[in-house]
Amino acid sequence: MDILVIDDDEVDFLHIKRLLKLAFKKQELNINWVQNPANHDVAHEIATSEICLIDQNIGMYSGIDLINKSQDTSGLIPMILLTGQGNTEIDRQASEVGASDYLVKEDLTPELLNRSIRFSIAQKQHERKLTKLAFTDGLTRVANRAKFDETLELALYARERVNKYLALFIIDLDDFKLINDSMGHPAGDALLIEISKRLQDAVRRTDTVARLGGDEFGIIIDGYKNEEDVFVIRDKILEAFNAPIPFNKETLNAKASIGVVVLAPGQAINGSEEALQAADMALYVAKRSGKNSCEFYGEEKMKILEQQFDIQKALTTAVSDNELELFFQPKVSVADHIICGAEALLRWNRKDGQEIGPSVFIPFAEKSSNIIEIGRWVIEEACRKLKSWIDMGMDVVPIAVNVSAIQIRSDTFVPHIEQTLSKFSIDPSLLELEITETALMENLPTLNARLLAISNLGCKVVIDDFGVGHSSLSRLQDLPVSKIKIDRSFIAKIESSETSLKICNIVILLAKELNLQLVIEGIENWSQIELLSLTDEILLQGFLFSKPLPDIAFQEWLKGGDPKSTSETDLVSQTSRSN
Ligand code: C2E
Ligand code: MG
Ligand code: MG
Repeated sequence: MDILVIDDDEVDFLHIKRLLKLAFKKQELNINWVQNPANHDVAHEIATSEICLIDQNIGMYSGIDLINKSQDTSGLIPMILLTGQGNTEIDRQASEVGASDYLVKEDLTPELLNRSIRFSIAQKQHERKLTKLAFTDGLTRVANRAKFDETLELALYARERVNKYLALFIIDLDDFKLINDSMGHPAGDALLIEISKRLQDAVRRTDTVARLGGDEFGIIIDGYKNEEDVFVIRDKILEAFNAPIPFNKETLNAKASIGVVVLAPGQAINGSEEALQAADMALYVAKRSGKNSCEFYGEEKMKILEQQFDIQKALTTAVSDNELELFFQPKVSVADHIICGAEALLRWNRKDGQEIGPSVFIPFAEKSSNIIEIGRWVIEEACRKLKSWIDMGMDVVPIAVNVSAIQIRSDTFVPHIEQTLSKFSIDPSLLELEITETALMENLPTLNARLLAISNLGCKVVIDDFGVGHSSLSRLQDLPVSKIKIDRSFIAKIESSETSLKICNIVILLAKELNLQLVIEGIENWSQIELLSLTDEILLQGFLFSKPLPDIAFQEWLKGGDPKSTSETDLVSQTSRSN
C-alpha cells in the first residue's frame, strides 16, 4: 500500500510510521514522507498515493487547505487529517473540504489507524463506483451525456495550453427507428451496444466515446498533431458501420450520418455550446446529402484538405487495382511530321469516375512516396507496350517516360530499369527518361550518379519543362543529358509575347550550340510553327499533331498508316495534308 504522510515534525512522522507498520503487519507498506510541501509537487504525490495522512499544521501550510486544493485533481484519493488536539471547528472544516476522516495525534493507536484507513479507502472506492455509474450510459456502458459535456468543457478549457488539434464527431444513426419498429427494441439495443463497442475500438483509450441520447453518439478526439490525421480517424469511425451486426439468426445493418468540427491549435471557441452547434450543422448537411456520409464543418480549407487526403488514399491502391493506364503522344519531325518518338503520359481511371490529371495526382503520389511504386509501374508498362508493338511487327520509336526526383533517389531505380529492359528484351535506346528541370535543381551527387548510370545503360535523359526551373546553364554541361524540352508555357505565348518568342528562338540556338536535341512541346497551331526558327533536328509535340492517345489509337501512328482513322487524330491528318 502506498501511503503518503505530510508532516513537518520528524518525530511525529517516525511515530506515525511505527504505528502504521503495526497497524498493517501483514501488508507491504511503501510510506512516503513530505516534510515541507514547498519542496514537492504535492498534488502529484497525493494523486499517486493510495491514502494520505496530512497534519493540520505543516509550517506555513494548513492541512485543511492542502486537502481543499487537492480535491480537483485527487478528489477520489482518501485523505485523513491529523491534528494535535480535538477541536470541533476543525472537525467540521475537515469534513467540509472532503477529508475522509479526522484523527487526534495523541489518540492514535494501530487499531484506530487500521480501521480509519480501511474505511476511508472503502468509502472512496464506493464513491468511485457511484461516479462511474453517474457518468456511464446504462445500456452501452460508454460515457453518457453528462460525462461527454464535462470532458468537452475541460478539453476546450485546456486548449489554450495545448498545441494540438481537437476533433468533435457527432454521429447519428440513419433509420434507427425503422430497425426498432420492424425488428423490436431488443434488436435496436443490440445494435447500439455493438456500435458503441466498435466506436470505442476505433479510437484511442484516451479519446471519449459517449452516447448522447437515443441513437446519437459523440466522440472527442483530444490532441492530435497533423491536421490530416482527422481523416484517418474518420475512416476508422466509418469502418465501425461496415460489417453487419448479427442478431439472433438475422443481421442488422447500421449506417450513420456524421458531423465533424475540427479546432486548430489556438483556435478560439466560445465553450462547448459553440463547438456542438458547429458539429450539429455539419451533421445536418450530412443527413441532407443523402445520409450515410460524413461532413466537416464549414471552412473551405478543410474541404480541400479532405479531397487531397482522399486522392492520396485512393492512389495507394491505384496500381494494385489496375486503375492506371499509359497514353502516348507522338513527337514528330519538323520536315515531314513523321513520328520519331513519343511521350508516355499517365492516366488514372478512378473507380468513382472522377477525372484527375497527372499534374494534380503526381504531386500527391510524391508526397506519400507512392510515386516509387507508380513510377516502377510506368517503366514496366512502357516496356511491356514496346515489346507488344515489336511482337506485332511494328516499327517502334523511343518512348519517353516521366520520372520524378524521388524515384531517382531510390536505390532500386537503376537496377529496376536494367531488369525491366532485359525482362522485355528492350533495347535501352528505346527508353528515354524525362526529368523536370526543377527536379534537377537538387544538385545531389546521388542524382548525378544515377543519371550517369542510366545513360551508361544506353537510355537517354531528357530535361523536361526547360526554362522555368531556374537551373544554371553550367548544370547542363555536367549532366549526362542528350535532349531538352522547352517548357510549354513559352510556346503558348509566342503569338502574343515577343519575349517568349525570343526566348524560344534563343533556346533553339542554345540547344544547337550545346549539341543537344530539342523537343518543342505544346504546339497547337501552324502559326506557332511559322514563328519559330525551326531546324531539321528539332522534334515537335503538341495537340496540333496528336493528343496523347491510348495504346490502340497510338498504334495507327506506329503502323505509319493514316492516323485519321482514329477520331483523336482527325486534326493531325487534316493539318498535315493542308501543309
Ligand atoms: P509534361 O511531362 O510536361 O507533359 C506534357 C503535358 O502537356 C501533358 O499533360 C500533355 O497532355 C500536355 N500537352 C501536350 N501537348 C499539348 C498541347 O498542345 N497543348 C496543351 N495545352 N497541353 C499539351 P498531362 O498528360 O496532363 O501531364 C502533365 C504532367 O504530369 C506532365 O507534364 C508530367 O510532368 C506529369 N506526368 C505525366 N505522366 C507522368 C508519369 O508517368 N510520371 C511522372 N513522374 N509524371 C508524369
Ligand atoms: Mg514530360
Ligand atoms: Mg513538359
